[in-house]
Amino acid sequence: MAKKSKNGKNENLVSGATGDWEIVIGLEVHAQVNSHAKLFSGSSTEFGGAPNAHVSLVDAAMPGMLPVINKECVAQAIRTGLGLKAEINLRSVFDRKNYFYPDLPQGYQISQYKHPIVGEGEIEIDVDGDTKRVGIERLHLEQDAGKSIHDQHPDYSYVDLNRSGVALMEIVSRPDMRSAKEAQAYVTKLRTILRYLETCDGDMDKGNLRADVNVSVRKPGDEFGTRCEIKNVNSIRFIGQAVDYEARRQIDIIEDGGTIDQETRLFDPKSGKTRSMRSKEEAHDYRYFPDPDLLPLEFEQAYVDELAKGLPELPDEKKHRFMEAYGLSAYDAGVLVAEKAAADYFEDVIKGLKDAGRDGKTAANWVINELFGRLNKEGQDISASPVSAAQIAGIVNLIGAGDISGKIAKDLFEIVWTEGGDPAEIVEKRGMKQVTDTGAIEKAVDEVIAANPDKVEAVKAKPTMIGWFVGQVMKASGGKANPQAVNEILKQKLGVE
Ligand code: ADP
Ligand code: MG
Repeated sequence: MAKKSKNGKNENLVSGATGDWEIVIGLEVHAQVNSHAKLFSGSSTEFGGAPNAHVSLVDAAMPGMLPVINKECVAQAIRTGLGLKAEINLRSVFDRKNYFYPDLPQGYQISQYKHPIVGEGEIEIDVDGDTKRVGIERLHLEQDAGKSIHDQHPDYSYVDLNRSGVALMEIVSRPDMRSAKEAQAYVTKLRTILRYLETCDGDMDKGNLRADVNVSVRKPGDEFGTRCEIKNVNSIRFIGQAVDYEARRQIDIIEDGGTIDQETRLFDPKSGKTRSMRSKEEAHDYRYFPDPDLLPLEFEQAYVDELAKGLPELPDEKKHRFMEAYGLSAYDAGVLVAEKAAADYFEDVIKGLKDAGRDGKTAANWVINELFGRLNKEGQDISASPVSAAQIAGIVNLIGAGDISGKIAKDLFEIVWTEGGDPAEIVEKRGMKQVTDTGAIEKAVDEVIAANPDKVEAVKAKPTMIGWFVGQVMKASGGKANPQAVNEILKQKLGVE
């Protein structure tokens, strides 16, 4: 479904000299499996060890060594498949993908080709208020390679095999995305799902989530164009830049009368450009064949069902539950569930509320606007928030009970942020309670009316001016008068409706 603006124009289209173009994007994401040991050996997967500190004889491909499948990696792939609402294949096959590279001592990568562990699924993304589904073609398990290091010495290159044999899930999307924003939303959502499932850390800085970005362009309604694959893009921002640069490059070539060569390209973050790396290899170049050292991977449906029972609530389900239970907008609920830590925090706030049905929405506003806003400003993470969920709940309870106004609540938040303490006690001790005592409010109203005879005349002709009176009375009360009570008493005394 194409994104349409109010005037019916497809906003995803990119204009060129010969008219509008559509961008087509499909992503292959490599997600490092969250597990202590590698896919076929017991070596540690820990990040940041000394070079070659986590290398067994299997990882170094010593002759005669045999791979043994790590059951936990298989379970993680199944959990991920379930999280992507995908088909789980009870029988899959490991193949050898043959190529030569110094950081690949086996001379082949063990991967899955014709029979992956996970089949078709989907991911829901929200872009500019529209919801769209992106198809997942497959998820397969494979080994990571080692790392070649070229910049340590002018004459030598080094190889670090710590990553060699670490389990990766390759998650392949259908070519369903139509803009840089959609591709970014897809990777962001995929990362959120993986983190909820705890099947991958999704830490792009550490390289444990990276995307190969396939881009082609076409005139709307035409067949798909020839694609280029941009390898190993390692940040959400770079994915956006790579898509936009690559689409423009292809459009310019075609409009100049050229054709696109199917090739593998690299994204250079410094220049924001992509450049050619090699012409695209075909599957037959890899001489795939079933690995004779490994039996087909088989398990029972009962095993899948057992794993399904242990899955946490996923972001989309949580989002819909928040919307229904507390009347939140899709946008606000989406913000709260984007990070599991934030969603957990919000749920803790809810637990502290006296009337969650009534005040849940206020609580969401406080978490999103006041708390996240402040954390962002201070560059702090929710896990290190100086204000606890119980304290936010305390503030919201005071608002809900009519004890403090929204304005006083902001002052209270400031005190809690800097000094800590129980919100209800602070309000009590510092006399911050909202004045609902009509006698006291009446007195303040009378004083303001007496001091401003000209305004009293004016408000009779122009009732909206009552706002000015409300402001004066609120000021006189130090912000503590109940604004609603002030409004009522003013209306009564001034004789306006
Ligand atoms: P290969 O196995 O040769 O890499 P696939 O058919 O598996 O090719 O596709 C790899 C990725 O490229 C998938 O994510 C797919 O969605 C995407 N893709 C396929 N055709 C196109 C196209 N014309 N434009 C953009 N992306 C595409
Ligand atoms: Mg591929």
